[in-house]
Amino acid sequence: MLGSMMNSQLTITSIMKHGKRINPNKEVVSITSDHEEHRCTLNDIFERSGKVANLLKTHNIEKGDRIATLAWNDFRHMELYYGISCSGAVCHTINPKLHPDQVSFIANDATDKLIFLDVMFIDLIKTIEAELTSVKQFIVLTSDASVVDGLGDNWSIYEDDISAYSNEYDWPELDENDPSQLCYTSGTTGNPKGVQYTHRSLVLHTMAAIAPDAFSISKNDCILPIVPMFHVNSWGIPYMAAMVGCKLVFAGQKVAEPETLSRLMQNEGVTLSVGVPTVWNLLAQYIQKNNISLTTLKRLVVGGTAMPAHLYRYFQDEQDMTILHIWGMTEMSPLGTLNHIHAKEVQDLDDEAFFEQKLKQGIPIYGVELKLINDDGQEVAWDGKESGNLLVRGPWVVDQYFNRPDVKNVDGWFDTGDISTIDQYGYMKITDRSKDVIKSGGEWISSVDIENAMMSHPDIFHAAVIGIEHPKWDERPLLIIENHSGDSLSYEEVVTFLTGKIAKWWMPNAVEYVEEIPMTATGKMHKLKLREKFEQYSF
Ligand code: AMP
Repeated sequence: MLGSMMNSQLTITSIMKHGKRINPNKEVVSITSDHEEHRCTLNDIFERSGKVANLLKTHNIEKGDRIATLAWNDFRHMELYYGISCSGAVCHTINPKLHPDQVSFIANDATDKLIFLDVMFIDLIKTIEAELTSVKQFIVLTSDASVVDGLGDNWSIYEDDISAYSNEYDWPELDENDPSQLCYTSGTTGNPKGVQYTHRSLVLHTMAAIAPDAFSISKNDCILPIVPMFHVNSWGIPYMAAMVGCKLVFAGQKVAEPETLSRLMQNEGVTLSVGVPTVWNLLAQYIQKNNISLTTLKRLVVGGTAMPAHLYRYFQDEQDMTILHIWGMTEMSPLGTLNHIHAKEVQDLDDEAFFEQKLKQGIPIYGVELKLINDDGQEVAWDGKESGNLLVRGPWVVDQYFNRPDVKNVDGWFDTGDISTIDQYGYMKITDRSKDVIKSGGEWISSVDIENAMMSHPDIFHAAVIGIEHPKWDERPLLIIENHSGDSLSYEEVVTFLTGKIAKWWMPNAVEYVEEIPMTATGKMHKLKLREKFEQYSF
């Protein structure tokens, strides 16, 4: 016999309705291509989502159809999130930083019916327009009619298009397992793979993420999400804000400009911001140089790559902020673990060891289970020492990639491709990606640990370590450093700096300097490209 509680469906529509009824007047501030500073309310956004849904109806969009966006973070992108998903279609966010061939592959794989795009991506779409066989209309997110002049009949202006429609829309009753959003992985090897989130997975992820020991978001917060809305739904912030009713600040295309960020943070009273370490580094340099204290910003959510120690210390000690270090993946919506350390669990640690504990990727939040296995499939102990392949499962972890029945989870666990340790308290530490790990004399060397140690040098922000074939040891580490200043450390200076920070036998055999370490479209070091560049290298 089943229990007897109501089977209310966990849908994005329920978040929208709650936000509209309970938090209608919360402010949303945006920078867009046609507004230096646009102000509206959550209610305005949801009203216009109704217009979006009516527009989709006119284009004969049916339940489950994919509708693409190539857009920065702003109010229009947010009304598309809700208007598309809540009408039963799937909001497919495409990363505009991908190579045009990948954008075209992704749009065709998803058979997107419409593309909503920001003005600055018109050229990108024009170069691949002829290949986009399923797309019927390109709708540019602006009020400036001139931008589509001469582009063709299937190009139109968002503000003109939606102005014709009513805000009223009879939102359908959706099943919580209906698809809601679609996002492709960055795909450093092979073609990108699509992760199709359900209404249920996003609602559960939102509820877990706002909790006190997670992001701890309340009505009194003001959030500036730096993570783009085209990357894993900006880590879920547009849903969290509507669920709790907090103010939102969107920096649009200026999201990587520290001057704009610090101005918005101070003027708008931002209390929490989420982003990758690269942006925090830019911001830290800017505010240090200009003697700025970010007085209202109290919590930084950091993830995507490990938080370098010196940046952690700077924001914690100099700016009096709490760092919430998270780990996750596109395949996990993205939240998996979070480091919001509880002092009592680590009371016996000295200051240095306590700090090391803080730098870990953290404990799984409720809903996510972790498992570590070795290459023979045996479980590895949670002792903080032995590393293994990290597997995960939970209601917001991908079960099956979009259109890829050939790629399957094993025994209900998703293999993250990350190598990690987990300690007795459940704190997980990423030690490598499985394809980046260096095998020297039959033992593993963590490229990530060497990189983190090197990046704790105040003059070095990007350092990558790759394995180079070695006649005696199979592979040995090569350290590659991005050099901006022209003043490079000698090999001996690097060795002196790393001594004591990493195991002796992990010491890189050589150091090479490059002008720029290649990055993926989601801001991670592109090791594959580095391996190609140094393919012929020998020590
Ligand atoms: P993506 O799906 O593009 O968000 O990339 C997910 C991958 O980023 C993970 O599998 C990790 O390898 C890496 N990653 C995410 N967060 C962290 C973190 N806090 N520290 C180290 N690596 C991370």
